[in-house]
Amino acid sequence: MTKQKSFLEYLSIVSIASCVFFGPTQAATARDVPQPTHPITIQEAVNRAYNDYKSNTDGSNASYIPYLEKANTKLYGIVVVTIDGKIFKAGDADYFFPVESISKIFTLAHVLKIQGANNLKNKIGVNATGLPFNSALAIELNNDKLTGSPPPGNPLVNAGAIATASLVEGKSLEEKWNTVIKTASAFAGRPLTLNKDVYDSEMADNQHNLAIAILLKSYHYLYADSAETIDLYTRECSYNVTAKDLAVMGATLANGGNNPLTHQNVTDEETSMRVLAVMATAGLYNTSGEWLYNVGLPAKSGVGGGIVAVVPGKMAIAVYSSPLDAAGNSVRGQLAIQSIAHDLGINIFKNK
Ligand code: GLU
Repeated sequence: MTKQKSFLEYLSIVSIASCVFFGPTQAATARDVPQPTHPITIQEAVNRAYNDYKSNTDGSNASYIPYLEKANTKLYGIVVVTIDGKIFKAGDADYFFPVESISKIFTLAHVLKIQGANNLKNKIGVNATGLPFNSALAIELNNDKLTGSPPPGNPLVNAGAIATASLVEGKSLEEKWNTVIKTASAFAGRPLTLNKDVYDSEMADNQHNLAIAILLKSYHYLYADSAETIDLYTRECSYNVTAKDLAVMGATLANGGNNPLTHQNVTDEETSMRVLAVMATAGLYNTSGEWLYNVGLPAKSGVGGGIVAVVPGKMAIAVYSSPLDAAGNSVRGQLAIQSIAHDLGINIFKNK
């Protein structure tokens, strides 16, 4: 057995082990009810999704980050923001929770704009990995000599998000962090802040992500210092948002980069389209294909329990509910978005 083979075997054990962080529930599936016979309003669709899944207790909190394990599983909030700035909500819409992986799309928007679409594709990659979000094996399998894809794989899995964070420009960690949080705040239309408890909780037990950064560095696909990049990446995952913030952030992407509440041009139309394309390929971890098949909307989830789906040119739907399915996606979040999309008849693959 070659040295490389036994290393791959080791990595596959790490990757398989990384799938068992979350609850045993399988990905939530669409409810099997007909389309409402009469057109219903957005607020009615939000209320229906809220009431239908309010008492659903499937899934479990992320236990590998101690702070997240303690989240109140009863909290449940839904917000829709349209591109003309209308807001529809139900439940715990203004509760603060850690953004986690959803932050990856806003740092990506910044890096995409400064690097350009081709550099992003060549330095990070834009194909789905099909493997768990924090897979180190994916780095080995995305060997550009074999697959044509660079090893980070995709900006929305940890390896790609860590490589993306390493492309944020700045002379110091503080300067880079300032860029990341300012970008996210512009998307949200208000100043977002770090949740220090989440950051400390993740930094205290961050060996797996650091190992990913060091592995990427060894292949010359990490573009800054590994320890500094992991610090930046962990801060990025640890800022607080509400379901309303996420809906505004998503609606900014739906609106070609213009924030529908502040009217600021946060990014441009091409960047928004590319970010949405990447969300469609890998926004829900290794169940992204199933999600797109069932719901037909680009989306991004985080292990903090948030999820946002974007309807280009129309609106964004965001949900907070901490219990996750086996892949790390909010169970009630998926159900509520599916329900709203179903009731309003929205799907990007529809012909009208
Ligand atoms: N900070 C988390 C991690 O890197 C983010 C994971 C996620 O939300 O997918 O493990």
